[in-house]
Amino acid sequence: MKLEKYSFGMGDRFAHQGQAQLQAIIKAKNKGVNITPVWNKSHREHITIGSSPDDVRIEADAAVKALGWDGQYLVDADHINMDTVDGFIASSDFFTLDVADYIGKPAAESEINDFVAKYSEFAGTLHIPGMSEPFKIEKSFIEKVARDFLFAIKEAGRIYRHIAGVKGGDNFVVEVSMDEVEKPQTPEVLFFILAGLAQEGIPAQTIAPKFTGRFNKGVDYVGDVNQFASEFEDDLLVIRHAVKTFGLPENLKLSVHSGSDKFSIYKPINELLKKYDAGPHLKTAGTTWLEELIGLALAEGNGLVLAKKIYRQALGRFEELTDPYKTVIDVHKDQLPIPEEVDSWSGEKFAATLRHDQKNPAFDLQFRQLLHCAYKVAAELESEFTDTILEYEDVIAAQVKDNFFKRHIQPLFF
Ligand SMILES: [Zn+2]
Repeated sequence: MKLEKYSFGMGDRFAHQGQAQLQAIIKAKNKGVNITPVWNKSHREHITIGSSPDDVRIEADAAVKALGWDGQYLVDADHINMDTVDGFIASSDFFTLDVADYIGKPAAESEINDFVAKYSEFAGTLHIPGMSEPFKIEKSFIEKVARDFLFAIKEAGRIYRHIAGVKGGDNFVVEVSMDEVEKPQTPEVLFFILAGLAQEGIPAQTIAPKFTGRFNKGVDYVGDVNQFASEFEDDLLVIRHAVKTFGLPENLKLSVHSGSDKFSIYKPINELLKKYDAGPHLKTAGTTWLEELIGLALAEGNGLVLAKKIYRQALGRFEELTDPYKTVIDVHKDQLPIPEEVDSWSGEKFAATLRHDQKNPAFDLQFRQLLHCAYKVAAELESEFTDTILEYEDVIAAQVKDNFFKRHIQPLFF
């Protein structure tokens, strides 16, 4: 199964916006850009929401059928590992093998020695075609990469073979993710990681390294945009060269996780992809849930009452809700508005405070980040929440579609 050049990961916490999300993809197609929609949900999200991997498949199939989408579409078992993969195998055809937790664990000494021996031909001056400066690679650097990553690579191989044993190796797309770590992987590290993945026989079609800078959830990129762009360009060149050198799938591409709302890097990403005729996979997840809240607020009436109730509860449970996300958010309780103030707001004001429109003076980054973490509150409200989003489906769907098309798909793929 071959993933197409452009693909877009779409998370949908409560599984009600599949059609609205697909409408954004169809709009792009009608304007001449073909993108594969990939519905993704991680084990962590399923646990918080109380949903199952089968629900994502049902949602995707239903949206595709309802709108008559005849292009490729996939269901991504996002961030799975050996402990969690089994529940995803039947319903998924895209698997994100998350081996970040295994980075730094020691592989066997003999395996490390074999790796260093095999790839020491790349020690010295390593020219990557297209790159202005060659890498200077010490043998000790190759050994360091092996010590840091070989165990994780082997683990990815173990998970891959486990899935392939059930589904057949050609019946799914493989992504390898190492993004949920503090320290970015540089392009030269990526080169040797790709060597390892090829050696392990993992036909990865997407790879999610940790890029430089902060990828906070639901808000813009925090970091040096020029540095990001230069690293992203080097990564593209490294991948192109590694594909030829190690015999990896020729459509192997970069996957950008926590990719929603990273407006300041979309322009360089777009330009570099055009320059190298490459495609991205970009994953989004929580941004759709925030559009549901915006839609509820704009609907006024019960919708706005519910949005305010969720905010009040979220603030009351600040530590519990933000703690699991503390490495990927920057939010301070004392900088958030008090619930009594929020209760006095109009739906427009609530929506403008939450919507990721950096030009709007009402936009509040802190407010947005807290609510990003608050989907657990909505999940616990059960039918009170889901009935209300169904009641205001039209206004919510318009927000979801607009957010995807105007703020994400257009700047990235057009
Ligand atoms: Zn991720």
